Amino acid sequence: MRRLGHSEDLGPVDIGVKNGKIAMLGHIGEQGEREIDGVGHMLLPPFVESHIHLDTVLTAGEPAWNESGTLFEGIGLWQKRKQALTYEDVTERAEKVLRMQMAAGILHVRTQADISDPNLTALRALLALRERVKPYMYLQVIAFPQDGIRACPDNERRLEQALELGVDGIGAIPHLEPTREEGLASLEICFNLAEKYGCFVHVFCDEMDDAHSTFLENVAHLAIRSGLRERVTAAHANAAAYYSGAYFQKVQGLLARSGVNVVCCPLINSAMQGRYDGYPKGRGITRIKELWSAGVNVSIAHDDIQTPFYPLGTGNMLQAAHIAAHLAHMTGREEVAELVRMITTRAANTLQLKEYGLKLGQPASFIMLPGNDAMDLVREQPSCRYVVSQGRIVAETVPARSQMFTAL
Ligand SMILES: [Zn+2]
Repeated sequence: MRRLGHSEDLGPVDIGVKNGKIAMLGHIGEQGEREIDGVGHMLLPPFVESHIHLDTVLTAGEPAWNESGTLFEGIGLWQKRKQALTYEDVTERAEKVLRMQMAAGILHVRTQADISDPNLTALRALLALRERVKPYMYLQVIAFPQDGIRACPDNERRLEQALELGVDGIGAIPHLEPTREEGLASLEICFNLAEKYGCFVHVFCDEMDDAHSTFLENVAHLAIRSGLRERVTAAHANAAAYYSGAYFQKVQGLLARSGVNVVCCPLINSAMQGRYDGYPKGRGITRIKELWSAGVNVSIAHDDIQTPFYPLGTGNMLQAAHIAAHLAHMTGREEVAELVRMITTRAANTLQLKEYGLKLGQPASFIMLPGNDAMDLVREQPSCRYVVSQGRIVAETVPARSQMFTAL
């Protein structure tokens, strides 16, 4: 099998597994108890989904389809749908998607859980699921105040309640608060709570086509001030595409110094953003390439799967990397390899995973996909041939083959 290289070829590699850990890596001469032929395959650490909403998945069309495709129609539809939310309903849909993700080679997932419901139904269901899937998958749950913290004051108390229930992190959505000042106040509340509990911060940041939406710099500043730094993530940040060159340079430098992770969701954002633009229309994503070049940890997330906000989505991380290659103009060989890192090692940095990667002594969690390099993976988006979690094969997909009935 081949590993993901830079421009250099790392050469073929064998992997040996013992007691759920990577026991050997390199050329292995000796015979194993069970062997799998990996010729023609890439060997990668598992995919990492750094931003998804498992509480909204598989609800597209309920109670109606989002015909305008806008965030605001999506929020309106979700407000109606969430009134019918039950513990069983969330568990069933989230579990179905986790199984899809596992088959697609994703073994680490950071999910949002909307807390704008007084009973915290979705949050409780996802926390229970987090414990249940632990033997195979690692799930992080972020308490997400979809309706705002200042706009919906009950959410401040619910964030703390969520922390007491054991969430991994909390969020904010400053650009949807009524004013910029209220947005800043919501960030202060979020960071103060996170400092008190030492949890992750995952902010929905500037998900607007508006050059004046500049909470990204505040998130970077608060990450430095609080000392939370790499534990902080700014998701979406697509308004940055509209910033002036000079202002973006400033924000980029601050971000790089802060250690803040940036998560880009190119599938949903390219579909949802730019709806109010005339031509030429924005691409809906943040400046992935520039941030990466400046040393910011950028990851790519798949995000929504069949929700009121985005009716498509399969969970396949390579699909998100594929669209990012187009939208970010990252089609160079090294750039494409970087896109694959943005759904593996870089996304693992965002989740601050301690036991991750193809290293001796680490848990034997890895995936095998047909292909010889990153270009093959992003171009073809193949299914994972094998998904191995802690030494155990948890999913296997037999590749589809076409049969030809005519000669050319
Ligand atoms: Zn999202």
